[in-house]
Amino acid sequence: MREAIKRRDHGLCVKCKSQNRLVPMDVVDHIIPIKDDWSLRLNPENLQSLCHACHNLKTAKEKAKREM
Ligand SMILES: [Zn+2]
Repeated sequence: MREAIKRRDHGLCVKCKSQNRLVPMDVVDHIIPIKDDWSLRLNPENLQSLCHACHNLKTAKEKAKREM
């Protein structure tokens, strides 16, 4: 699964790519956290390639939202 997503996203971080930056991906991220919807865990539509920086940013944002 991880390899399939990596291939789909060309091995690049999709967030950085949307800002015209070509950064190799480090992790496959769940767009909607599986904590929120377990049924999405194997849905490729809910998976995206991210670099560590983007993944940490996203995780921090989600944590902040959760604690509001
Ligand atoms: Zn990135």
